[in-house]
Amino acid sequence: MEKAREIILAKSAGFCPGVKKALERVRKLAEGGQGPVFTLGPLVHNGQVLSGLEAEGIRAVESLDELKGKSGVLVLRAHGVTPEVETQARGLGLSVVDATCPLVKKAQNAVSRYAAQGYDTVIVGDAGHAEVIGLVGYAKERVFVVSGPEEAEKLPDFDKVSVVAQTTQEEDVFRKTVEVIKSRSKNVVVSDTICKPSRDRQRETVELCRSADLMVVVGSKKSANTARLAAICRRLCPQTLFAESAADLDAALVESARRVGVTAGASAPDSLIREIVSALRRLG
Ligand code: SF4
Repeated sequence: MEKAREIILAKSAGFCPGVKKALERVRKLAEGGQGPVFTLGPLVHNGQVLSGLEAEGIRAVESLDELKGKSGVLVLRAHGVTPEVETQARGLGLSVVDATCPLVKKAQNAVSRYAAQGYDTVIVGDAGHAEVIGLVGYAKERVFVVSGPEEAEKLPDFDKVSVVAQTTQEEDVFRKTVEVIKSRSKNVVVSDTICKPSRDRQRETVELCRSADLMVVVGSKKSANTARLAAICRRLCPQTLFAESAADLDAALVESARRVGVTAGASAPDSLIREIVSALRRLG
């Protein structure tokens, strides 16, 4: 008899604590009646969740210019912002709530502590990502963003350099990048600022890849941490599907798999994860 398909959902799938807290905070503010609530950038990369928030009176704006002359509350999201943006935000006249994740704050503090001592900074992360843009703003001397060891090879030599990680960075990429920098500079301080929730999520994904013949990565293609999970899966699993919705599931691939692992990015809502898992069961 043919064996039934197994679907194994990662325990870590779903919102990370930083995103969860930021969501709770904006919802409380919206109920508090202090006027409209704005977030600088989307709180999560999911259209459904964002529409739900809009219906609750919480609107994402792309830039502070959109808020000129407005009243209400402005929330700085979990990714954090540069000190300059924070100062500008506070100068707008709205009430500002800082929902930067404490684990992102830890990385910001590491950058500013060593920058104040004259260290150059290398951030191992995605140059265009909001968290990294925020971190760059805390550096004082020269600052470089590299995606991994290959880009680190092109860095100049340093007298003294501080290296930090984007909180969602892959452990292996960070370790190899640090090795390259250490081989070329004598005075290197390393702050491993990868957050525990990201570390756990990635380790669990690696573990699932060992036994699954198909991995499904749930989340938005715009989300950097979800893209990292997909990269891990593509490296370690014979087949990987990136699912922003159930429509992205390739029926033939799913039907040919015996053991399906499901992992999800830090901003993937439970409703989307449930939708994907139900669709995987239906396809069985
Ligand atoms: S991924 Fe980590 S650092 Fe970023 S918001 Fe979530 S818990 Fe905080």
